[in-house]
Amino acid sequence: MKEMTSPEETYDLICVGGGIMSATLALMLKLIDPKTKILIVERLNDVALESSATWNNAGTGHSAFCELNYTPENSKGEIEVSKAIEIFTQFEKSKEFWAYLIQQKLLDSPKDFLRSVPHHSWVEGKDNVEYLKKRHQAMTSHFMFETMKYSEEVGTLKQWFPLIIENRDPNEVMAATRMELGTGVDFGNLTETYYRILEQHFDTPVVLEHEVLDIDPDKNIEWLIKIQDLNTEKVKHYDAKHVFIGAGGGALPLLQKVEIDEKEGYGGFPVSGQWLYCKNRAIIDKHHAKVYSKAGPDAPPMSTPHLDTRHINGKQELLFGPFAGFSTKFLKEGSFLDLFKSIRLDNLPSMWGVFWHNLPLTKYLIKQVSMDHEDRMEELRVFMKDAKSEDWELRVAGQRVQIIKKDEDEGGTLEFGTDVIHSKDGTITALLGASPGASTAVHIMIEVLQQAFPEKLNTKHGQEKLSKMIPFWNRDITEFEDEFKQVQKYCSELLELEENH
Ligand SMILES: Cc1cc2nc3c(=O)[nH]c(=O)nc-3n(C[C@H](O)[C@H](O)[C@H](O)COP(=O)(O)OP(=O)(O)OC[C@H]3O[C@@H](n4cnc5c(N)ncnc54)[C@H](O)[C@@H]3O)c2cc1C
Repeated sequence: MKEMTSPEETYDLICVGGGIMSATLALMLKLIDPKTKILIVERLNDVALESSATWNNAGTGHSAFCELNYTPENSKGEIEVSKAIEIFTQFEKSKEFWAYLIQQKLLDSPKDFLRSVPHHSWVEGKDNVEYLKKRHQAMTSHFMFETMKYSEEVGTLKQWFPLIIENRDPNEVMAATRMELGTGVDFGNLTETYYRILEQHFDTPVVLEHEVLDIDPDKNIEWLIKIQDLNTEKVKHYDAKHVFIGAGGGALPLLQKVEIDEKEGYGGFPVSGQWLYCKNRAIIDKHHAKVYSKAGPDAPPMSTPHLDTRHINGKQELLFGPFAGFSTKFLKEGSFLDLFKSIRLDNLPSMWGVFWHNLPLTKYLIKQVSMDHEDRMEELRVFMKDAKSEDWELRVAGQRVQIIKKDEDEGGTLEFGTDVIHSKDGTITALLGASPGASTAVHIMIEVLQQAFPEKLNTKHGQEKLSKMIPFWNRDITEFEDEFKQVQKYCSELLELEENH
């Protein structure tokens, strides 16, 4: 293998990874300044094959309509909705961006990646019903959730999601909410479309089957990137003014090689996902909803069970899950050594702290991993009383690497959100974590752009351009209710979402 030390080419930005995050950043930057020279490097033989692949995630457009973990009950018995408002606002930015792409004729058929699918929260038992009722009251007092419906009435619930109500004792105590503004997203298709736009309109193809091995400070331009062609094993070096590590589960191992103080103490804990997917078309066609319920007491928030209509490659599907799996790999196409190699002196206390303070989570994972098909079917039968084992099959989803962070008191904490890590000068940024994920890619990339490219954003042109692309990119929607509603209606029309709000 021949190593070259002098850089072969120079870029304004090199993105590591061909998932939705790099695609969103590259496209937003090209729209602001088409002259920006960008290189995108992907180790696999196509884009969107890891977490962004359609079957590898749940395809929920996270708006906090149905996910109960975003509206906790505080010690005074009040429902806190601030997180829900934050999540809702973030997803609206994605919708505004997609509507702009349609307006600019860069995207033409939104139904290929975005569908109206009502979002429901459904609970059983007196205490849970009480909670849901209070949640509904708290949420509907905010204009973004004012169209949310609530019902305890079996007939109504049967209309909303017949598969769940069929063959159930009519005296069972249950309640549900419904938001018709809910969406399902084919993130895989969307990611591929972004890359097509980048290639066809902005002359920015993705370099496939190349792996970024290392990123070092450079004496000429900010960063020297070492990239290996995985077919020839030849190593090349590139110079970049900015680097974005959008490598999904591969971000942590790469960040650990970069000489910046901000990476200190970070670790990762991999949790894989699995779904039961329905093979019986008659059953699939009977359900048109996303129905989220409550996660078990020791279960992490991303394990909330849900029965979901999906539209995959234009075809309606039905999935139930997720079930957690454990693998020491950080990427689905990764190495079993990933977790062990990520343990370093600087993150050892955080990793140990997390293990020690999360024993119930470890117990939960062990229980999940030891489940067989019948055990999983029993969980599905909580939703669908008469689900038949032969109608369902297991499918392995993507790999999430949850963030482990340094913590003064506990040594380390396990987090279920997303962190943007950046050097002080913003020339290198990395994205760790996985939730709420692809839904918030546009919001997260605005943050990355602000850190990495203030010189492009802080001009009159940059600000105006971004306001056209994402009208509420820097404004609080709660202060502009009427204008927000108009923008939302306009975007829904362009995105061909159903007019049920
Ligand atoms: C089970 C599950 C369910 C989910 N459900 C939802 C949901 O319902 N809604 C939602 O919004 N989000 C969801 N998510 C989260 C969402 O899928 C992710 O947040 C999103 O896809 C991450 O995109 P990414 O571009 O960062 O990573 P990825 O799509 O994983 O892409 C990273 C890419 O980097 C490449 N790579 C890694 N290392 C290197 C290297 N050194 N050199 C070159 N290339 C490299 C990888 O091969 C990969 O293609 C879910 C995730 C999982 C796992």
